[in-house]
Amino acid sequence: MKEIIKNILKKAGIYYSMQGRYRSFLFYGNVLLTRIKYSKYKGSGFTCNFCGNKYKIFAPGYASEEDSPALKKYKVIAGNGESVYCPYCGSTCRERLVLQMLIEKIDCENKKILHLSPEKQIFDFLKKRSVVITADIEPGFYKLIDKNIIYADAGNLPFENEAFDIVIGNHIMEHIPEDTVAMKEIFRVLKPTGKAVVQIPFSEIIPGTIEEPYISDSKKQSELFGQKDHVRIYSLDDYINRLSKAGLTVNYIPPEKLREWSKYAIQPREGFFDCVKS
Ligand SMILES: [Zn+2]
Repeated sequence: MKEIIKNILKKAGIYYSMQGRYRSFLFYGNVLLTRIKYSKYKGSGFTCNFCGNKYKIFAPGYASEEDSPALKKYKVIAGNGESVYCPYCGSTCRERLVLQMLIEKIDCENKKILHLSPEKQIFDFLKKRSVVITADIEPGFYKLIDKNIIYADAGNLPFENEAFDIVIGNHIMEHIPEDTVAMKEIFRVLKPTGKAVVQIPFSEIIPGTIEEPYISDSKKQSELFGQKDHVRIYSLDDYINRLSKAGLTVNYIPPEKLREWSKYAIQPREGFFDCVKS
């Protein structure tokens, strides 16, 4: 029944916008509750680089029961665990890592930026500084973040060669069946010396990427990849290899080098894929 209703709404073209509104409603509801619950933890310790609020602890974000076994088995660095959400603004650890990289290491002033599957707070940061075009294969889902978002398939981006200084596609590759095509597209639309921000969940203990690119069974995807809409778990080395083959020069900055950022409650084991078109 649920699937039938879903398909009717999809055919009517309103499923993803409804889902976007619903998610946003849940998000702001949770933020309000967390603010109240964590008000007693206000003080020194962690700082949110988005809103500037300081707390002794941040809110945890644990994986669901269905997703946990695969994530645990392969020790996937996926954005779950303790100190995930800022209790005040709801930013996540992986968004705070990207923001810090944008503040300190990637010049975002007066640039032309493509932001795929945009995260609200990162988009808000960028649009104050640069021209930002947002795009997704389901733009309706993101209309509340940017009303001007356009339709784009990451495997066939509707932009000229060398159109952007920066392309951000944060945690998208693990969803895309033909990820290497999307990587080549990002390379194509970047200007020479342009930067790509393409973080993903990954494992350091598997010898190669585990994937079933054309799987379409959410239960199985949770079981195999630790999220119902993922089609793979990357191994760290293979991900770097795929990006390199697409033409990008990848400098993986390991988490040890980012330790000074631990005050922002970023994931202790997540490094940064610093990608440049050189
Ligand atoms: Zn915050």
